[in-house]
Amino acid sequence: MERPCVRVPREAGEQTRQALAAADLVDEDHEIVVDEEVLYLPVTDPDAVGDEYDVVYRDVPAHDPQRTPAELLGFDPSYERLGDVVILDEDDPDRAAEIARAILDSDLPVRAVIDRASKVKGDLRVRDWTVLATDGDRNGRPPTETIHREYGFEYRLDLAEVYFSPRLATERHRVTEEVEAGERAVDMFAGVGPFAIPMAARGATVVGVDLNPAAVGFLRENAHRNGVSDQVTAIEGDVRDVAADYADWADRIVMNLPHSADEFLDAAVTLAGDDCILHYYDIQHEDDPFGPGERAIRAVAESAGYDVEVLTRHVVRSYAPHELNVCLDVRLSQ
Ligand code: SAM
Repeated sequence: MERPCVRVPREAGEQTRQALAAADLVDEDHEIVVDEEVLYLPVTDPDAVGDEYDVVYRDVPAHDPQRTPAELLGFDPSYERLGDVVILDEDDPDRAAEIARAILDSDLPVRAVIDRASKVKGDLRVRDWTVLATDGDRNGRPPTETIHREYGFEYRLDLAEVYFSPRLATERHRVTEEVEAGERAVDMFAGVGPFAIPMAARGATVVGVDLNPAAVGFLRENAHRNGVSDQVTAIEGDVRDVAADYADWADRIVMNLPHSADEFLDAAVTLAGDDCILHYYDIQHEDDPFGPGERAIRAVAESAGYDVEVLTRHVVRSYAPHELNVCLDVRLSQ
């Protein structure tokens, strides 16, 4: 569309733009156009432009208005993005519905907006969700299903069927970056594979176990999707029943079941080879976040003949008021 523009040599562009801006004449809705050595600066009122400037009419593109949820709502809502699904944590259903509508109406590439409807529950650590809004074009996919990208890997998952938290991405990266080619690693609570797959990509042979058949299905698919299916063995079952099949096997073990990892230390010690690094996740009171885990590991591992050396005491995140999600990186050797 033709708009009035001030035409200036390129080298005079910035000075002219500033002069026009000072006179409140810059047309912010249209873009500045560069043509060879000439700039065209769109203006709002050609009659108000001083005689020293050359005003012409020409086509200039309109600025793409970026509509963010905050712009549409008038406040900045808090939400997490997981692929093309947006996750809310709202108590007020009216406010949740208003935010969901604004997110779908915004320019974010979003297919569905869902709200946490329960805490994570039971052994499988899956929560309930309320579907607040969808774009109506789901190609038969549930609104809770998405493909999440993290540190260059892709994970397909359905939040209604499996546990997954994008908040742990940095922590997973911290751990998986330690892996060296040729290691044998067991992910005792593998979920859809966000530890197992990066470990395999670093050259490890990985066994990933999960009680949840849906998680194991996604783990297999995601291993394939990320080109590491030859190195990942996905096993459905209780890791306590699987451990004996891989006794004394592991150079590295990930235990990411923070509320009850201590109940699985016997299985971890069964899996551990003579020199094994254990990544033990725990949730404890901030007054002593590492003590209970360290004592539990020492009790089980030392009675099985291992020396225990704590390599790192790492706070992953705040979990609840006065409660911390922590990781103990421990070397077991004998
Ligand atoms: N590591 C994954 C991640 O970061 O997304 C999943 C962690 S999630 C907190 C814990 C997982 O442990 C769930 O997928 C759950 O199904 C699985 N799980 C719970 N009890 C288990 C058991 N006895 N044996 C194997 N897996 C179990």
